[in-house]
Amino acid sequence: MGRRVAVVGAGISGLAAAWQLVTDPAAPDDLSVTVLEASDTVGGKLRLATVAGVAIDVGAESMLARRPEALALVRELALEHLLRHPAPVSAAIVAGGRRWPLPRGTLMGVPSDLGTVRGLLTDSEVDRLAAEVISPVEADIAVGTFVDARLGRAVTDKLVEPLLAGVYAGHSRAISLEVAVPAMFAAAREGRSIVELAGRVAAAAAENFTPVFATLENGLGTLPALLADALRGRGVRLLTGTTVRALRAADGGAWALTTGPTTDAVEEVFDAVVLATPAAPTARLLAGVAPAAAASLATIDYASMAIVTIALAGPATDVLDGSGFLVPPTEPLTIKAATFSSVKWPWLALAHPDMTFLRASVGRFGEVSTLQRPDVDLVEIALRDLASVLGRPLPTPVETQVQRWGGGLPQYAVGHRSRVEPARAPAPGITVCGAAYDGVGIPACIGSGRGAARAVVAHLAG
Ligand SMILES: Cc1cc2nc3c(=O)[nH]c(=O)nc-3n(C[C@H](O)[C@H](O)[C@H](O)COP(=O)(O)OP(=O)(O)OC[C@H]3O[C@@H](n4cnc5c(N)ncnc54)[C@H](O)[C@@H]3O)c2cc1C
Repeated sequence: MGRRVAVVGAGISGLAAAWQLVTDPAAPDDLSVTVLEASDTVGGKLRLATVAGVAIDVGAESMLARRPEALALVRELALEHLLRHPAPVSAAIVAGGRRWPLPRGTLMGVPSDLGTVRGLLTDSEVDRLAAEVISPVEADIAVGTFVDARLGRAVTDKLVEPLLAGVYAGHSRAISLEVAVPAMFAAAREGRSIVELAGRVAAAAAENFTPVFATLENGLGTLPALLADALRGRGVRLLTGTTVRALRAADGGAWALTTGPTTDAVEEVFDAVVLATPAAPTARLLAGVAPAAAASLATIDYASMAIVTIALAGPATDVLDGSGFLVPPTEPLTIKAATFSSVKWPWLALAHPDMTFLRASVGRFGEVSTLQRPDVDLVEIALRDLASVLGRPLPTPVETQVQRWGGGLPQYAVGHRSRVEPARAPAPGITVCGAAYDGVGIPACIGSGRGAARAVVAHLAG
C-alpha cells in the first residue's frame, strides 16, 4: 500500500495543503491524499450565496496581490485569466459622523504624511502625532497601546483601530504588534520612528505599480470549488460532510482518524495528517496526542461577525462614491465597515449592470449582543447606519442576505507568537496550518497550508 496523507479541513489552507502534496516534486510517487471536510461544501470562509439571483461573495472577497502566495496558486491552477482588480476609487473612514478619505500611505493606520490626516484628526491631535514619543519596547505589546504612547490615542482610535478591525474584527489595544504589524514591532524594539517607517513603506509602495488587491471574476468564493476540481483531477479523495472527531496514534508511527456518527464510527489510518482546522477543533483533536500543543491552541479566541449583503435595483447611485468605508468603534454606529461591491469591483458592475450590490459587516470581538439579534434586525441596523453615514436612505433593497460567521477570525492577542510555538510541530507526522498561526489573510493561509504540506513531504522522506 502507498503512503497516505489526510488533510483535515477544506478551507483555503487545507485545500492549498492538498495542492502542495499533489504537486510537490519531492512527494513520494505512491502518495494518496484524502481531504476530510465537516461541512457540505469546501471553502470555509470563502463562500458564495445567491442574492437577487446572483452568486456573490458573502465571506472573503479580496486578496492581497502584493504577497506572492495567492497569485501563484491562481497561476498554477491556470485561472490567471479570471483575476480582477478593484476600481481605482478610494475608501473612506468615518469620524464625527462624516466620511473622510482614507489617508494614503499609512502603515496599518500610522500616517506617513501629517497633511493627509488633518480634518480627520483635529489640529491638537495632529500636533500630538507630530511629537512622536520614542521609548524602548522590550517585548510584544498591543498595537493600540503602543501607538497610544507613541502618537496619541486619537491615531489609535480613528486610524489604527478601524484598519485593524477590518482585518481581525478585534480591538487594537489587545492585538499583538509582533504578529499583526511585524515591521512596526521591529522599529519599536530598535527605537526607530514609526512615522518615518510608514514613510519608507509608502515610498516603496508608490514605486510598485502592481495592484494591491485582487479577486476572481464571479467571486473569490469560486476559488475553492475550482481548486477542489483540480485536486480531484489529480486523484485526491475529497470527502465533505465528514467531521473528524478523534485522532490517535496507530501502529508504526501512523495516525488513526475517526469519522462518522458515534454509533457507527469509522476509523482510517494515515501515515501523516495535516490539521487545517481552526484552533478550537485542532485543540480537541490534539488533546490526546499532544496535550501541550492542544492547551496552547485552546487559548486562542475567535471573533464572530455577520456580513449583510444588500441588492438594490438599478446601477450604483452617486451616493455610493468610493469603494466603501470603515467605522472606528468610537463612532455611535453598529456596522464596522461597508463595501460598495458594485463600485469596488468593475467586473461585478459589468456582469450585472442593472443591480447594485453592497455589504456591511457587523460584530467585533467581545460584542455578542448585536449578533444575538435576528437577521431582520441586522438588516435594519445596516440600512440605518448606511443612511446615517451616506446622509440619505438607500432605496428599498430588492433582496438582502445575512451570513453569520460564528468564530470567524482568530484574535492574535499579545504573546500570540510564543503561544502558537508549541503547536507548530505537535507530533511526528502531524502538521498544522490555517488562519490561527501566521496571518488571517488568504495569501498567508495558502502559504501556511503549503508549508505544512512541505513538512509532511519531508517527514515521509524520512
Ligand atoms: C467574513 C470574513 C471576511 C473575510 N474577508 C477576507 C478578505 O476579503 N481577504 C482575506 O484575505 N481574508 C479575509 N478573511 C479571512 C480569511 O477568509 C480566513 O482567515 C481564511 O479563509 C481562513 O482559512 P482556513 O482554511 O485557515 O480556515 P477556514 O476557512 O475556517 O476552514 C477550516 C475548515 O475546517 C473545517 N473543519 C472544522 N473542524 C473540522 C473537523 N473536525 N473535521 C473536518 N473539518 C473540519 C471547517 O468546516 C472549515 O471548512 C475573512 C474572514 C471572514 C470571516
